[in-house]
Amino acid sequence: MTNAFLTHLNDTLDQIESDGLLKRERPLAGPQGAHVTVEGHRLLNLCANNYLGLADDPRLQEAATRAMNSHGFGLASVRFICGTQDLHRALEQRLADYLGHDDSILFAACFDANGGLFEPLLGPEDAIISDSLNHASIIDGIRLCKARRYRYPNGDMDALETCLKEARAEGARFVMIATDGVFSMDGTLARIDLIRALADRHDAMVMVDDCHATGFMGPKGRGTPAHFGVKADLVTGTLGKALGGALGGYIAGPQAAIDLLRQRARPYLFSNALPPAITAAGLAALDIVEAGDDLRDALFTNTRYWRDSLERLGFELLPGEHPIVPVMLGDARLSQEMARALHEEGVYVAGFFFPVVPKGQARIRTQMNAALKRADLDRALEAFETAGRRVGVLS
Ligand SMILES: *Cc1c(COP(=O)(O)O)cnc(C)c1O
Repeated sequence: MTNAFLTHLNDTLDQIESDGLLKRERPLAGPQGAHVTVEGHRLLNLCANNYLGLADDPRLQEAATRAMNSHGFGLASVRFICGTQDLHRALEQRLADYLGHDDSILFAACFDANGGLFEPLLGPEDAIISDSLNHASIIDGIRLCKARRYRYPNGDMDALETCLKEARAEGARFVMIATDGVFSMDGTLARIDLIRALADRHDAMVMVDDCHATGFMGPKGRGTPAHFGVKADLVTGTLGKALGGALGGYIAGPQAAIDLLRQRARPYLFSNALPPAITAAGLAALDIVEAGDDLRDALFTNTRYWRDSLERLGFELLPGEHPIVPVMLGDARLSQEMARALHEEGVYVAGFFFPVVPKGQARIRTQMNAALKRADLDRALEAFETAGRRVGVLS
């Protein structure tokens, strides 16, 4: 690399830092869990996507170890050459059954599932209508597809209907609406019931990315479509959040769609198969989420207690029922000060501010999980009260 190029890179990094946008990794000593050790400090962790507390569950660890012993460490192949084991097909069928679809197809991550979904299924004659707050991977996936693109402001059903009419008026052959099931900065749910009804009225399909829902939202944790009592045509999701938190993504849907994705989805065709430890632990995670509601009950009991208590202390929250509970602070600097004060009080949280969320809507995003005990939450509430007074959010 030339010096000029490296100087250019360093200038860009300096700019990111002086804009206050530099992200720093903070290594955990030990596993992900309700408590983590960060840089020598033991912290209560309120910022993981570990909704069901399965990230260090011994049942998953044991399933992974057993599979490594019986099926080896890696596959050294894409799925269709020599990288498919019985575990892959078992997991694909289990996910499909759980979500109420014909079949599913695994990817290395949901980022890849969303990146690979659109281009094989839709062409230039077609249209994709996308919510403005959709995850980056949906945006990228749509960019890779030649279909005509429409975008509606987050959750605006009138604007969605306008897009549907426009797409039809412009002669679209097939129309697909793409939405996150849960918008992760706000913890709000997409109204899949209304979206489904609009789609049906205008002969469109519905694709839902349910990364922040599968395993815990809706009856048996079957996700946001189930929560609203409707069905999406295609659902994508991750094994990297509630279902164990390691990695792996999938698309579930009608047989023909999954079969065609197996022929054409580029991240599936040109990237390695998931290793046995991951696929076996995914099956173990599904065993747990299908067996009973105890973890979901713990999660939502925590969520209600946490929301009610923060409100009682005088914090401003975004309303909702999801375990993502954003504490609104408005000012970017205030959110950073608050996060720092909370770290000093032994609570690990992340502040979010522009450009991740709109200007003036900076926040601390807290996330509940099933592994947190009532005593943990009470300690976190004390920390929020102390930190809130110190930075002047609470009077
Ligand atoms: C986390 C997330 C992804 C990415 O999932 P990975 O499996 O980590 O790649 C995609 N979409 C949404 C909405 C997410 O929250």
